[in-house]
Amino acid sequence: MREINGRTKVCGLLGYPVEHTLSPLIHNTLAQALGVNLVYVPFCVEPGRIGEAVRGACALALAGLNVTVPHKSEVIPYLTQIDPLAEKIGAVNTLVRCEDGFKGYNTDMTGLQQAMKEDGIELAGERVIVLGAGGAARSVAFLCAYAGASQVWMLNRTPQKAQEVAREVNRAFGRECIRGLALSDHEKIPAGKYLAVQGTSVGLYPHSKDAVTEDARLYEKIHTGYDLIYRPGETRFMQLVRAHGGRACNGLKMLAYQAIQAFALWNDVCIERPLADHILEKLKEETRIHE
Ligand code: NAP
Repeated sequence: MREINGRTKVCGLLGYPVEHTLSPLIHNTLAQALGVNLVYVPFCVEPGRIGEAVRGACALALAGLNVTVPHKSEVIPYLTQIDPLAEKIGAVNTLVRCEDGFKGYNTDMTGLQQAMKEDGIELAGERVIVLGAGGAARSVAFLCAYAGASQVWMLNRTPQKAQEVAREVNRAFGRECIRGLALSDHEKIPAGKYLAVQGTSVGLYPHSKDAVTEDARLYEKIHTGYDLIYRPGETRFMQLVRAHGGRACNGLKMLAYQAIQAFALWNDVCIERPLADHILEKLKEETRIHE
C-alpha cells in the first residue's frame, strides 16, 4: 500500500459514466512503479457540468486530468491553453495543469499512432477504411490525414455524420483525402486491399458476438483490421478479418499508450519499454475476465 500524504498529487478522470474505466489501474500502477507520489481517481461528471468540474479541479490544484465521453469537446471552452493538434481535432482527452488553469491535449490520437507504429502499421501512403464516425473514429480520421494516408473512406450507419467529419478533416488539412459514405455503400470503395479501423461501438462486451457488418465483400478488401475495442480481446470484427486472410489487432495498445503519454505529460517522466509491457500485461489480465 502506497503512503498518501500532504505531498500526494491527485489526477483523475472526468466522464459519465466512469464505473468501468481501466485508467486508475494504469495510472496507479505507473505511479507505484516509478515512485511518483500520485493517486488517480475517477470523477463522475454529469453532462452539462464539465465547466464546473474544471473550475473545481483548478481550485483544488489537481495535477492532471483525463476527459472521456461525453465531455471531450465540451471541455474545450474551459481550457486556458490547447495543443494545436488537439484544437484541430476539436477534442481533448488529457488536461495538464498550467499556471492559470489547464492545457488540453489529445493523446487518443497520438496513442493510437504509437500503438499502430508498434504493430507495424504505416499510415503514410496507406488506403484506409474507417468504420464509424463517433468520437473515436473522428480521432482516427484526423490521424490518417495528419500521418499522410493517401485515401480514407469513412463508413457510418448515419452517413451524414461521416460526411461532416470528412468535410472537417479535409478543411483542416487542406486536401481532399477523406470521403464519407453509408455503411451499406462499401461497394463504392475501389477494389484493392485496405487497412480498416473499426471505430464503432458494435461488438463491445457484452455484445461480443456482433460486428458492424458481416458482409464478406468488405472483409475481402481488408489486409489489416484494427479494432479500437479491447473488451473482448478478440472481437467478432477481428475474427471476420482473420477468416478472410487479414491480420487483426485490438485497441488495448491504444488504451495503454494514450494513458502512458498522459502520465508522461503530467509528471515529465519517460516510460520505458519494460514498464509499458508490464502495463499491457496487466490490461490483458483485466480484460481477459470479459472474454
Ligand atoms: P460514439 O461517439 O458513441 O460513436 C459510436 C459509433 O458507433 C458511431 O459511429 C455509431 O454510428 C456507431 N454505432 C453504434 N451502434 C451501431 C450499430 N448498431 N450499427 C452501426 N453503427 C453503430 O463512441 P466512441 O467514443 O467513438 O467509441 C467507439 C468505440 O471505440 C467504443 O467501442 C470504445 O470502446 C472504443 N474506444 C477505444 C479507445 C481505446 O483506447 N482503445 C478509445 C476510445 C474509444 P451512428 O453515428 O450512426 O450512431
